[in-house]
Amino acid sequence: MIEKSMTLKADFRHFLDDEGNELALTEQAKTVFKFLTKIVSSVSAHLEQPLIDVDLKCSTRGDGLSCEGRIEAKCIETAVIEWHCDTCEASGTIFNWQGSMWDKQKHTIH
Ligand SMILES: [Zn+2]
Repeated sequence: MIEKSMTLKADFRHFLDDEGNELALTEQAKTVFKFLTKIVSSVSAHLEQPLIDVDLKCSTRGDGLSCEGRIEAKCIETAVIEWHCDTCEASGTIFNWQGSMWDKQKHTIH
């Protein structure tokens, strides 16, 4: 899970092998990666929208509570996705997601 008030800077490639497949990850990394892939696929499918409501609960844990906030995300630069919780301070950025199998932009296949 993502710790409270932590800004997560995630390089998507750290979770993938040379062929773009998911590496054998620890349980914690797997949870984080699943969270990130959901954001990447939601945002890349709706890049024209200024802010995307990702169908994802925050799950940040702190003070014995688990945040029930929802995740909102957007593409802030060509290749950077920024996400944040609408309830707590959890936020982060995702890099190097383009071209991965979770990138839902419509590509021309050659
Ligand atoms: Zn939250």
